[in-house]
Amino acid sequence: MENGTKQIWGFRGNEELKIASEITVRGFLNSLMFHVNKDDDRPTVPLGHGDPSAFPSFRTTGIAEDAIVDALRTANYNCYAPTVGVLPARRSIADYLSRDLPYKLSADDVYLTIGCTQAIEVILTVLARPGANILLPRPGFPYYEARAACSRLEVRHFDLLPEKGWEVNLEAVEALADQNTVAMVIINPGNPCGNVYSHQHLEKIAETARKLGILVITDEVYNHLTFGSNPFVPLGTFGSIAPVITLGSISKRWIVPGWRCGWLVTNDPNGILRKTGIVDSIKGCLDVSSDPATFIQGAIPQILENTKEDFFSKIIYIIREAANLCYERIKEIPCITCPYKPEGSMYTMVKLNLCLLEDIGDDMEFCLKLAKEESVIVLPGMAMGMKNWLRITIAIELSILEDGLARIKAFCQRHAKNNKI
Ligand SMILES: *Cc1c(COP(=O)(O)O)cnc(C)c1O
Repeated sequence: MENGTKQIWGFRGNEELKIASEITVRGFLNSLMFHVNKDDDRPTVPLGHGDPSAFPSFRTTGIAEDAIVDALRTANYNCYAPTVGVLPARRSIADYLSRDLPYKLSADDVYLTIGCTQAIEVILTVLARPGANILLPRPGFPYYEARAACSRLEVRHFDLLPEKGWEVNLEAVEALADQNTVAMVIINPGNPCGNVYSHQHLEKIAETARKLGILVITDEVYNHLTFGSNPFVPLGTFGSIAPVITLGSISKRWIVPGWRCGWLVTNDPNGILRKTGIVDSIKGCLDVSSDPATFIQGAIPQILENTKEDFFSKIIYIIREAANLCYERIKEIPCITCPYKPEGSMYTMVKLNLCLLEDIGDDMEFCLKLAKEESVIVLPGMAMGMKNWLRITIAIELSILEDGLARIKAFCQRHAKNNKI
């Protein structure tokens, strides 16, 4: 300071939030983009993130675009929305999800959120009582870890088993849980593994939760994005075995992640979530939060009810082709193996065989050098708790995916041991 005295400022950034930004997908991808060589004339191939909305083949349906315009033009949605969301939207989400359930949801089971992201934030905030812990899948979606850190909710990880189609290691779940465990999280169809759980496995998950006296949070943001042998079954099917909270949004199935509209739904035919005060806490949490834009809420009934099957089947067709292409091309690359061909969502997990590579120490180094040398972005497994694995996004224009996989192959050949060119 000018007069030479040292000013002391009494404020500091919240440490939890600094850590959070280092462990989210966004944080990792931002740092990888930074390494792309600006002088490379080739376009960057983005196999890191799950937002194909920029690609022509993945443009959303005109039905959804019209629904927004129509909602806006009614002038009915210029107001603040109710805390829990506008009633027609809640009702249509209840109907939409009930199509796959053995019982009917009511509008009162549905809470509108700013994407699935806010639904995660709400439920973790609600559960974060002092001393509580939550069981998360490894690999998983790092936003859960980041959000739990912000709420000081203790995290314990159970493994998903690659050799069993990434099923939950339920023995590990039982071993991890104690009297302070409040919930377990599953993501189905899976991010990052592309798994789709069978009816039987989901039932076993619900039975395990019942035995442990915990609730199950099921992230079904990729619901119906399946293209393998297992059909999508919502975990809410087993809501009478253990209480289930279903999280979802229109971001992935309609490919409009920027529209920021999602939901948190209670699948609880026995009313346990009401009795234990979870429902009141959800409402309280939403009372101190913001809401999705009201006109987006107003468009939800038209979007859910009018979208034609051919829009969904076209998207599924492209991602299935991409999954086949990716699986076949990865087989040609000795230093990478894919233990499971994805059957849902937009990703696949592949394992690095580092012993076949020279001058690459781990997955992060692989991703950094790949970004620098080939302008290809993939997500290092360490972002999801799986060191020396990679997550590859397959929801992308096929020609670009093909180009990206060819560059990964060239990169691996260049860095292979005893295989200098
Ligand atoms: C993309 C994604 C989300 C976030 O969805 P939004 O609706 O965009 O907020 C949540 N969970 C998983 C597993 C995701 O992949």
